[in-house]
Amino acid sequence: RLRELEELRDVPAVTLDGEQVWLRANIGLLSDIRIAQANGAEGVGLYRTEFPYMTRSAFPSRDALFSLYRRVLEGFSPNPVTIRTLDIGGDKTLPYFPMPKEDNPFMGWRSIRVSLEREDIFRVQLAGILLASAHGKIKLMFPMVSSIGEIWQIKKIMNEVRSELSREGVPFDQNLELGIMVELPAAVQTAHILIREVDFFSIGTNDLIQYTMAADRNNPKVSRYYDPYQPAVLHSIKRVVDTATAAGKPVSICGEMAADPINAVLLFGMGIREFSLSAPSIPVVKQTIRALSSTMAEEVAREVLALESSGAVRAYLLDARTRLG
Ligand code: PEP
Ligand code: MG
Repeated sequence: RLRELEELRDVPAVTLDGEQVWLRANIGLLSDIRIAQANGAEGVGLYRTEFPYMTRSAFPSRDALFSLYRRVLEGFSPNPVTIRTLDIGGDKTLPYFPMPKEDNPFMGWRSIRVSLEREDIFRVQLAGILLASAHGKIKLMFPMVSSIGEIWQIKKIMNEVRSELSREGVPFDQNLELGIMVELPAAVQTAHILIREVDFFSIGTNDLIQYTMAADRNNPKVSRYYDPYQPAVLHSIKRVVDTATAAGKPVSICGEMAADPINAVLLFGMGIREFSLSAPSIPVVKQTIRALSSTMAEEVAREVLALESSGAVRAYLLDARTRLG
């Protein structure tokens, strides 16, 4: 089995009828680079940058971030690395950055909301990212966006940071692609508006399920409600994929949902061609894609989207799993 996985590492994820799929890795720490490489990741679809902040005792400097991001880029060159800006709050805290005590931290001061209020912290990270962008292909992504106003604010700050770096005379990627995570129902409902402002979408199913179903992703008491097969979740995903596709812009999936091969079939059938996974899941998803025809996957998606309950979806996919081998 190990041999098989090794052989899979260097072959592309292409369906039987020749549709190319990108399988990228979700990473957090430098130690994840090697694991991603070993599993044949074609770049990084989600770099959770809060992890290096969490393992320090103070906010990292611009230059520390620059050399860190540069090392990550070099690990995947010439493939892209999608860097997500700091996504703290909720369940992720920094030992040196006190957060307010909140009744509902997941609906509170977290993620891009922190970055837009603490511009000092945000600017240092953006500068580190821009500096690194001269050394490889970075795609920059912002978490937890809920409205277009946040994108305007982000772009204004980005332009200011760019001007400062230009004044210093340091090189950076002038055409850095900017994208957002679609992980809030508000972003799903306004996807047609948001897509005009960005170069790509990445659907974060971990949070999207939580917020769509109003079920804390870490609370076992409501895990029954935290269900990717709920039609509310599936139709949200479909809508976001269709919106990005109609606009001619790429859309990927970076939540854990995609790590189950049968879910990857379903998501492929909905039109997704780029997945970002925890690296150990890449080979088995690749194996599934390579044995798949687009018509089969499209049929799965069409039939699943016509079902009215998560139970029916689960039963259908269980059967499809055996049918598709
Ligand atoms: C998500 O929300 O789906 C996601 C990929 O990000 P995180 O798990 O870091 O919140
Ligand atoms: Mg998230």
